[in-house]
Amino acid sequence: MGQSTLNPGGDATPSLEHVVIVGASLAGLSAARTLRTEGFTGRLSIIGEEVHRPYDRPPLSKKFLSTTDGHSDLGSDDVADAEWILGVGASSLDTTARAVTLTDGRTVSYDGLVVATGVSARVLPGFDKVGVHTIRTVTDADAFRTALTADSPRVALVGAGFIGAEIASTCVALGIPVTVIEVSEVPFERSLGSAVGAELSRLYVRHGVDLRAGHSVSAVLGDEAVTGLRLDDESVVDANIVVLSAGAVPATAWLESSGLPLDNGVVCDSTLQVVPGIVAAGDVAKWPNARLGEFRRVEHWENAITSGEHAARTLLGASEPYDTVPWVWSDQFGFKLQFIGSSIDHDEIYLDSTLDDGGKLLALYRKGDRLIGACGIRRTKAVLSLRESVGQPGSWTSAIEQFASRSEV
Ligand SMILES: Cc1cc2nc3c(=O)[nH]c(=O)nc-3n(C[C@H](O)[C@H](O)[C@H](O)COP(=O)(O)OP(=O)(O)OC[C@H]3O[C@@H](n4cnc5c(N)ncnc54)[C@H](O)[C@@H]3O)c2cc1C
Repeated sequence: MGQSTLNPGGDATPSLEHVVIVGASLAGLSAARTLRTEGFTGRLSIIGEEVHRPYDRPPLSKKFLSTTDGHSDLGSDDVADAEWILGVGASSLDTTARAVTLTDGRTVSYDGLVVATGVSARVLPGFDKVGVHTIRTVTDADAFRTALTADSPRVALVGAGFIGAEIASTCVALGIPVTVIEVSEVPFERSLGSAVGAELSRLYVRHGVDLRAGHSVSAVLGDEAVTGLRLDDESVVDANIVVLSAGAVPATAWLESSGLPLDNGVVCDSTLQVVPGIVAAGDVAKWPNARLGEFRRVEHWENAITSGEHAARTLLGASEPYDTVPWVWSDQFGFKLQFIGSSIDHDEIYLDSTLDDGGKLLALYRKGDRLIGACGIRRTKAVLSLRESVGQPGSWTSAIEQFASRSEV
């Protein structure tokens, strides 16, 4: 294996002979594939604390739960000459020695490092009882679907984000009673705004979900095993299975003593570089996206792929900014919701169609004179047709004109 000729070298970044990727999942795999396709011929090591080769997480809150299927492997054999170090995590990073220490005590040196450790499910205090689940890994999802096969399962979900809503939808389809507790007045208030959240809550209730919006959990009941949840209005939700879907936290504990900039994620520049020789990608990476005027992480499947590609190219010497328009989908109650862009700090939401309009919904999000986001249910073409204009100056007026003239795309 020779050294890569693509790396610019220089004082700060030695030529790349050994790239280490920490995090053996979607973003890490995408970076590995790109390094090879862009001509990196040096040594490539991929470290992952799960025992599995990279697999797809989206099915874990959807089809996986109602079948006995295995997980969907992402097919990583196409990454030539990669050394997979699986079932062992990185415990620390020494950027001076350029070495990653593993939980089994080994150290792995690198010239170039890709941080792709993703996020972990947020765990709330008091929820450490038998019968409480989080769903992030295939092991988590397997334990949950086994629990669903017990006698008389009664599920309570804490947090009505995308993953929570999908799990609730699966329970409904399986005929299992499900209560959703959401602290905001409507589900998705923070991510989609209250107008769209209100539309979705009506839908959940129509499908039989017992929705307790505007409430929080004051106590987890039961001795060793959970028997229910007491809410802040003193009502009690009877449940022998509880799913915590209260968001996620970046998996950066192993970087705490490294000196790398951390702030609810690994802080990158606009090219996804953290410091020379180190890039980050996927759910863990926080970067300034000039297109949207935002500095944040994005926890979406597509972003894990494209940021992995971009970070790999940056490591090899490219210097383009990563100005992407995020896209996420969610499958719930028999429909696909799609969202592009962002809803953060929106000034206005324009509802072109609501779920009462033949079960279709299209919401556009304005900030200043720009279209910053679009959300659709059964309006796939409309949502995707707007992707290029998201974040562009003056894009709001043209988006509204397109829909005010009722051009059904
Ligand atoms: C249940 C579920 C459903 C989802 N559904 C959708 C969907 O419908 N649409 C959508 O757009 N997105 C969805 N997502 C989000 C999408 O799957 C993620 O955005 C994507 O998996 C992020 O990839 P990643 O590689 O950045 O991180 P991850 O997939 O989290 O992978 C990070 C890997 O790093 C490993 N790791 C962590 N710390 C260490 C360490 N110290 N050392 C070594 N390895 C470590 C982890 O074990 C993990 O394997 C879903 C996610 C989940 C969990």
